[in-house]
Amino acid sequence: MNNHGGAVLWFTGLSASGKSTLAVALESLLFTQGCHTYVLDGDNVRHGLNKNLGFSPEDRKENIRRIAEVAKLFVDAGVVVMTAFISPYAEDREIARKLVPPGKFIEVYCKCPINTCELRDPKGLYKKARTGQLKDFTGINAPYEAPERPEITADTGSESVEESARKIVDYLRQRGLVTPKVYGRD
Ligand code: ADP
Repeated sequence: MNNHGGAVLWFTGLSASGKSTLAVALESLLFTQGCHTYVLDGDNVRHGLNKNLGFSPEDRKENIRRIAEVAKLFVDAGVVVMTAFISPYAEDREIARKLVPPGKFIEVYCKCPINTCELRDPKGLYKKARTGQLKDFTGINAPYEAPERPEITADTGSESVEESARKIVDYLRQRGLVTPKVYGRD
């Protein structure tokens, strides 16, 4: 019915690296091509399903575990689901990867230098972390483990949102995750 199968685009990167911005831009692009998509992000997950979780290592792990399980359900339902969370631990991302069939987990590393993220600071979080108002902030006083072999690296510190989004659509197309027929409406 959708003319495409389900898949997870798992965005990972520092806060303000552009995960949500890129996921939303990609969603618009895919929408115009007839793809059924959904974005899981802090707004619809951290404030709902996971509102009892904080930012300790244990809670971060549980946060990602639940998101991965939800993403798996979307894949089962044939949706292209995008998850936009820092997801700092490589081990947790590997657990998420193993939940879905091979080839259906696409790790998208939003690679952006921390000083650029800190300059953007759209929510003022880096400022709060620097002044000690925020504990356990990734990149400042909590670790971030960059992916070693992500399927896609989006250089969100240097390339435009449109360039990154197009790169991801091209990847999906090459692997038949977005069919030429759907893409042909471009
Ligand atoms: P994250 O979801 O990773 O925390 P956001 O998408 O919320 O990051 O914020 C990233 C900020 O960086 C936004 O204000 C966005 O407009 C800006 N930005 C500037 N250039 C880019 C780019 N090339 N890709 C993504 N975001 C960018």
